[in-house]
Amino acid sequence: MATDNNRFQAIISHCKEYGFIFQSSEIYDGLSAVYDYGQWGSELKKNIRDYWWKSMTQMHENIVGIDAAIFMHPTTWKASGHVDNFSDPMIDNKDSKKRYRVDHLIEAKADELEKEGKKADADALLAEMDKLLAANDYEGLKKLIEDRKIKCTVSGTGNWTEVRQFNLMFSTQLGSVSEEASEIYLRPETAQGIFVNFLNVQKTGRMKIPFGIAQTGKAFRNEIVARQFIFRMREFEQMEMQFFIRPGSQKEWYEYWKEERMKWHLSLGIPKEKFRFHDHVKLAHYADAACDIEYEFPIGFKELEGIHSRTDFDLRNHQEYSKKKMQYFDSEINQNYIPYVVETSVGLDRTFMMILSEAYTEEDLSTADKQDSRVVLKIPPKLAPIKLAVLPLVKKDGLPEIAREIMDDCKSHFRCFYEEKDTIGKRYRRMDAIGTPFCITVDKQTKEDGTVTIRHRDSMQQDRIPATQVRELVQKHIG
Ligand code: ATP
Repeated sequence: MATDNNRFQAIISHCKEYGFIFQSSEIYDGLSAVYDYGQWGSELKKNIRDYWWKSMTQMHENIVGIDAAIFMHPTTWKASGHVDNFSDPMIDNKDSKKRYRVDHLIEAKADELEKEGKKADADALLAEMDKLLAANDYEGLKKLIEDRKIKCTVSGTGNWTEVRQFNLMFSTQLGSVSEEASEIYLRPETAQGIFVNFLNVQKTGRMKIPFGIAQTGKAFRNEIVARQFIFRMREFEQMEMQFFIRPGSQKEWYEYWKEERMKWHLSLGIPKEKFRFHDHVKLAHYADAACDIEYEFPIGFKELEGIHSRTDFDLRNHQEYSKKKMQYFDSEINQNYIPYVVETSVGLDRTFMMILSEAYTEEDLSTADKQDSRVVLKIPPKLAPIKLAVLPLVKKDGLPEIAREIMDDCKSHFRCFYEEKDTIGKRYRRMDAIGTPFCITVDKQTKEDGTVTIRHRDSMQQDRIPATQVRELVQKHIG
């Protein structure tokens, strides 16, 4: 069985082998930290996105969704603070020319210390780093790296440059003739599309505070240290919700959304101890409180979602830069104000990686006379790419026709898969590997009494049920 690091590698290989995730432009040797979702990966990703969307919008009467464009007026990013502040402290190794994010470099050292059993030392190092980051003390950070003798993994030396800020936004040109073109950015977060539409949605939807606007979509960041598979990508997808509230009520709503979002993750059947909250010491330029929900990936506890109390920072700045009033009239207290905002922001790709990390299971099925094993993805049925596989035992005797009838009965209700090639055992294993929760087999007995064998993915238990009950049974489990 795989160790954690091996397990991570095994999941990456599995994703490729079974059509979940491919390296982008692979035939040209790939593009670093950019990935494509394959036939089953895109289904799983869509199901996660839909599940989030439904729980945010359909299940909350005071939250509506939008779909804003990726390109936005360049002033948006000036107003939001991203042009001036959206950067990470970096340091370069003079010998290898390799660039590191300072916090990642120090965290890697802390990981090393922890592995050597020096947990207290690791914690002290991280606490010192947090303090220096919070104070923007770059000289102090460089000194910490040197004092701790942190070395470049490529050159092996500690020959470092000064610590510098590096902006993470991608820019491009809008317009066809270069003299006329203006520089615009690929959005580094989806949130600003919500802020600039605050008045549109509030007025046309006649929304009353407190209310939320949700959105899913692509975001782009020129991540320097782009590794760890889909955990850190340069093009990724976010699922964000901005909740507009009365100033002064932010603490209460911040706590509310922390709890709500944790409940959502737990609803995926993941054990509680795999999650923890991590409060931010260094707050982003827009926040008055912020924390992460961290999940224990095979590469350790890492950020999955951010919950941020963003005050009125964004709306106030958009008001200033656009000269449009971002005010709300609260008839209950007879007052005009710029609403405060609590944001929940979760990465779709990281959620995907969490689901796979939980689901990926290697099982030893050996008996006294036979060595056997299987890899099964125990994905929650509601998220599984395919819900039902319909398998005629043999390709003749009228069995494919009956199987096709069952397919026709089910396929407009949920995703089904039909297959008649190979032995039934091999077909079951292929369905296990992509996480299909139910397989039904049509055999000779089906012709006699109208029943089929239904096989449950996780327990591998097989039952006989009437073919007419298949649709209802699957629907019950995926509802
Ligand atoms: P990190 O500290 O890991 O760089 P962040 O704090 O910058 O993340 P946020 O700006 O809070 O991230 O973005 C919200 C969410 O978007 C994150 O919790 C994460 O799930 C996702 N996310 C951010 N950056 C990336 C990325 N490069 N690749 C994949 N997902 C990302």
